[in-house]
Amino acid sequence: MGDERRRYLIQQMELGGSEVVLERGLAAQVAAPAATPAPPEPGAAAAATPAPATPKWMKGAPPIPGPGLAVEPPALSLLAGDPVADLESLEAVAERIRACERCALCASRTNAVPGEGNPRAGLVFVGEGPGATEDATGRPFVGQAGKLLDDIIAAIGLRREDVYIANVVKCRPPQNRTPLPDETAACMPFLRRQLALLGPKVIVALGATAAAALLDTRKSLGDLRGKVHAYGGIPLVVTYHPAALLRNPNWKKPAWDDVRIARQLLDR
Ligand code: URA
Repeated sequence: MGDERRRYLIQQMELGGSEVVLERGLAAQVAAPAATPAPPEPGAAAAATPAPATPKWMKGAPPIPGPGLAVEPPALSLLAGDPVADLESLEAVAERIRACERCALCASRTNAVPGEGNPRAGLVFVGEGPGATEDATGRPFVGQAGKLLDDIIAAIGLRREDVYIANVVKCRPPQNRTPLPDETAACMPFLRRQLALLGPKVIVALGATAAAALLDTRKSLGDLRGKVHAYGGIPLVVTYHPAALLRNPNWKKPAWDDVRIARQLLDR
């Protein structure tokens, strides 16, 4: 199989797996690659390039909706006591987070959870804050809700290592309660800096806390879903938190629509 065909097939697998369109005869070659393809007969027509298959996730996906809120993150300022204005890498931000004592959550944490993923990710997921498993490991979304998030990422043809995953607050709130306004305010400069360094194509806010913090709004999740908001010019889609989907499976279908909107924005 030629390099170009191999690359095409690998790309199709990454985009959705089973929808690969094989040229006649190529299926057999994939199963048992021929040693050397026969040279074409002189004057024979060149083989048609296969049309890219529609990825599985796109079937029945809703169209990209219209615009919603547009917010500009506050400018960095060393004078305003910004804890990250001087930091130029994600690792430097993570180190500062691990040493952070800006709010009371630091007292009860086992590990801070800065976030993780591909530093060149086009897609960033933002959750609320670490739970017990995340606090124990220092990694975001690795508990029950994290397994569902992994499935969601796979369903849109991506791998966890393709995206970046972060939270509004980086330390676990006691009993997984919603972060308090002063905790969110103390922690948001870290997330804003991470987003500025990542410069993704799309942000997905997972749940009301992430949506409210990023869009600086008190609107309900219901009001915020189904629109493409803009965070510093970056398209932002709001959906249900995976933990909410575990509690209420009826929300899985609308959440599936939301992430397929985000996936289309990524391809745009
Ligand atoms: N819930 C979140 O919001 N973030 C995590 O990292 C895990 C669960």
